[in-house]
Amino acid sequence: MPELSLLNIFLLLGGALLIALVAGQLVALVVGETRQLRAQSLSEHVARELLLTSLASARRAQRKAEEAGAPWNGIRKFSVARKVADRGDACSFYLAPHDKKSLPAFKPGQYLTFELDIPGQKKKVIRCYSLSDSNHPDFYRVTIKRCPPSKPEHPSGLSSNFFHDHIQEGTILDVKAPGGHFFLDTSKEVPVVLISAGVGITPCLSMMNELIELGSKREIWWFFGCRNSGDHIMKEHVAELAAKHENIRLHVCYSAPGPTDEEGTDYQHKGRVTVDLFKELLPSNNYDYYMCGPGPFMESITTALTEWGVPDNRVHFEAFGPASVKKKAAAPVTAETSAAPAFKVTFGKSGQTADWNAKFGNLLEFATSLGVALPSGCCAGQCGTCLTAIRSGNVIYANEPGSKPEPGTCLACVALPQGDLVLDA
Ligand SMILES: Cc1cc2nc3c(=O)[nH]c(=O)nc-3n(C[C@H](O)[C@H](O)[C@H](O)COP(=O)(O)OP(=O)(O)OC[C@H]3O[C@@H](n4cnc5c(N)ncnc54)[C@H](O)[C@@H]3O)c2cc1C
Repeated sequence: MPELSLLNIFLLLGGALLIALVAGQLVALVVGETRQLRAQSLSEHVARELLLTSLASARRAQRKAEEAGAPWNGIRKFSVARKVADRGDACSFYLAPHDKKSLPAFKPGQYLTFELDIPGQKKKVIRCYSLSDSNHPDFYRVTIKRCPPSKPEHPSGLSSNFFHDHIQEGTILDVKAPGGHFFLDTSKEVPVVLISAGVGITPCLSMMNELIELGSKREIWWFFGCRNSGDHIMKEHVAELAAKHENIRLHVCYSAPGPTDEEGTDYQHKGRVTVDLFKELLPSNNYDYYMCGPGPFMESITTALTEWGVPDNRVHFEAFGPASVKKKAAAPVTAETSAAPAFKVTFGKSGQTADWNAKFGNLLEFATSLGVALPSGCCAGQCGTCLTAIRSGNVIYANEPGSKPEPGTCLACVALPQGDLVLDA
C-alpha cells in the first residue's frame, strides 16, 4: 500500500469531517422535521378533539330540542311531582305535564307564567317564576321565595305564600309556556359572568346547570350575594358544581355572615357583590354579563359596568318586580319620557282623561291612580295580563317587554305614552 502523504491524510480527514457534518445536519433536519410533524399532529389532534366536543355538545342540544315537544298556546295543566324546601325561605316545585306528553325545550333564563285560583281572590292571580334548572325531559322546576309583607300593615305576598302553604305534591296547576327575552345563548362560547342576589339566583342557576348539562367548557364566573348561609339558596348544589368543574369560578358574598359561617368555606367575600370585586378578580371586562336580583342591586351593578366600559349589549338583566322595572323605565329619561310634555291620556271605556304624569312610571299605575281598573299580573311586562288596545297614539318601552305585544296594543304595566294617547280601557 502506497504511503499516504501528510496532505492526503489531511484531505481524507477533512472529507470524513465534512461527511460527518453533512450527516449530522441531515439527522438534525430529520429529527427537527419529525418533532415539527409530531407537534403539528398533536395540535391537529387537539383541534380535532375540540371540534368533536363542540359537535357532540351541539348534537346533544339538537337532540334535546328534537325530543322536546312544541310550545303550547294558552294554559297547560301541570302536576307538582316534587316539592323541596330550600334555604332562604325558598321552595322548589318540580312540575310534570299532566297530559304526560313531551315538554318543549326552554332557553335557560326563561320563566313560566302561572294562573292561580287563590281562595278569597275574585280573579285569577297571575305570576311569573323563572325556570331554575336545566332542560329535563320529564319536568320543569321553579324555585319560589316567600314574599314577606312590605310593611307591617300590608298582607304577605299572595302567590308565593300560597305556593308554600297550599301547593303540595299532586296539586294541579295552570301554566303558560316558557317565555321571556332574558336567556343565555348556549351555542356561543363567549365567557360569561352570572350575577345574582337572593332569589334572583333562579335564572342564573338554570343557565349554569344547562351549560354543565351540555358539557360546555365555557368560562363561567358566578357571583352570588345574600346575607348569610341561612339565606343561601341552592348552596350545596352550586358549591358541588364549582368543585367538580374547573371552568366555574364561584364567588359568594355574604353581607352579614352568621356566627358559624366560615370565610373560604361557606363564602368567599364579606360584603356585597360589586363591580370593584369584578375588577379585582376578572382578567378583563370582556365578558357577557347576566344579572338578576333586587332593583337597587341591578341598578348599581349596571351603572358601574357601564363606567367600567362594558358595552350595554353585553349586559343582560331581568327584573322580578315592578320596583326594578320602574327604575329601568326611569333610566333613559328623554324628551319623550320626561314629565315636561303635557300629553293627554284618555281611557276610552271609562271616560277618563288626564295629563300624563311621569311620576307614575307606567300606564298601569297611572290608570290605577285615576280609578281605572286594568287587569294586571307580573307588573314587569312579562305575563301579558295588562295587554290593552290602543285606540290612537303611540307608546314606548324603556326596555323591551318579555312578551312582545301585537301592533295596536300595549303592555300597560311597562308602557309610557309617546304623545297624546287613547286606550281602550
Ligand atoms: C320574569 C319574572 C320571573 C320571576 N321569577 C321568580 C322566581 O324564580 N322566584 C321567585 O320567588 N320570584 C320570582 N318572581 C317574582 C314573582 O313573580 C312574584 O312577584 C313574587 O313571588 C311576589 O308575588 P306574591 O304574589 O307572593 O306577592 P304580592 O301579593 O304580589 O305582594 C308583593 C309585595 O307587595 C306587598 N303589598 C301587598 N299589598 C300591598 C299594598 N296594598 N300596598 C303596598 N304593598 C302591598 C306585599 O306585602 C308584598 O311584599 C319573578 C317575577 C318575574 C316578573
